[in-house]
Amino acid sequence: MSYLKYLPYKCIICKNDNHYTKDCIDKCKVCKGEHITSLHKCYICNIIGADHITYYCPFRCSCNGYHTKNEHCCLYCHEPNPDHKDENCKMRLNIKYN
Ligand SMILES: [Zn+2]
Ligand SMILES: [Zn+2]
Ligand SMILES: [Zn+2]
Ligand SMILES: [Zn+2]
Ligand SMILES: [Zn+2]
Repeated sequence: MSYLKYLPYKCIICKNDNHYTKDCIDKCKVCKGEHITSLHKCYICNIIGADHITYYCPFRCSCNGYHTKNEHCCLYCHEPNPDHKDENCKMRLNIKYN
């Protein structure tokens, strides 16, 4: 059986009880997540800090996805293989939309 635990504050960011965390004006301006901007963590390289912008993360994959090169999955066959080049994928010509 599960029920909501009583929380002393509705907002876990600024510790106020007159608004919920999702409505807080102090929540992360980078990802709109429920933490203050200075505690934002890049979900690509896990660096914490507001001056590191995930969009410009140097570890970001060249496919423009939000993951590292090593986590890249082929866009066509979805194989998680960084050495496999998407443009050489044999599945590329077999894609059918139905
Ligand atoms: Zn708040
Ligand atoms: Zn954030
Ligand atoms: Zn990063
Ligand atoms: Zn990628
Ligand atoms: Zn592939």
